[in-house]
Amino acid sequence: MRELTKDNFVSWATEDHHMHTIVSDGEEGRDTVAYFAARAGLQRITITDHSDAIESLDWFVVNTQRCGFPWLSQRFRGVGIDAQLGVEADLLDEDGNICDTISDVRPEYMVLSVHKEMYCGHPTTITKAYQNAIERHGDRINALGHPDMKDFAQHLDMVRLCEVANAHGIPLELNGSMLMNGNTDQKLFRTMLEHGNSFIVNSDAHNRFELIHGRRMIFDHLVEEKYISPKFYEKVCAANNWTH
Ligand SMILES: [Zn+2]
Ligand SMILES: [Zn+2]
Repeated sequence: MRELTKDNFVSWATEDHHMHTIVSDGEEGRDTVAYFAARAGLQRITITDHSDAIESLDWFVVNTQRCGFPWLSQRFRGVGIDAQLGVEADLLDEDGNICDTISDVRPEYMVLSVHKEMYCGHPTTITKAYQNAIERHGDRINALGHPDMKDFAQHLDMVRLCEVANAHGIPLELNGSMLMNGNTDQKLFRTMLEHGNSFIVNSDAHNRFELIHGRRMIFDHLVEEKYISPKFYEKVCAANNWTH
């Protein structure tokens, strides 16, 4: 089995670049999320609400406060955290079309994910869709969000996806909430760890519990499965101020 080192991780300490607020389907406002991220010991975060593709969903309008992007209050600065706004963009179809705006604004930071509610192509086309999207938009994609999720596990060629991501220098996400909520396909997770070059550990938090515990779940899992050494794990815990 392969052992990963800190060189394989874009961020392993005090950073989290995938989380949601009431601007899409999260439970808290932006300031509250920034506050709890700071309380959790994070120093750099990117708030990545869902793209405008989410507006096609029935529940969306009543549950969220979309307007105001790209506004971000200055109040969070008082809690000592470097916060920026990004987007969880949606992969839409086999041609690699994506939706990467929030209220028609295109943030600089982009996590590209596929969600079954927003993907218009047939599930069997998913590998091709990723490949086309990366070839077309790769220079703007900061990470691939939860590529190991169960929803497309039956059809995704993870080895091929890793090859394409590696060729474009795009990190593959290890997603805390997906793992916590049982939505990670363990076979894809392992294949991704065997074939990917670069990983990013994010919470994908929709509430404060996931924000505090999401990333740690990943590192706990990695050390249990022997993908990282106990020594590296200790360093990660120390850097994040996790007691155990
Ligand atoms: Zn997602
Ligand atoms: Zn997300």
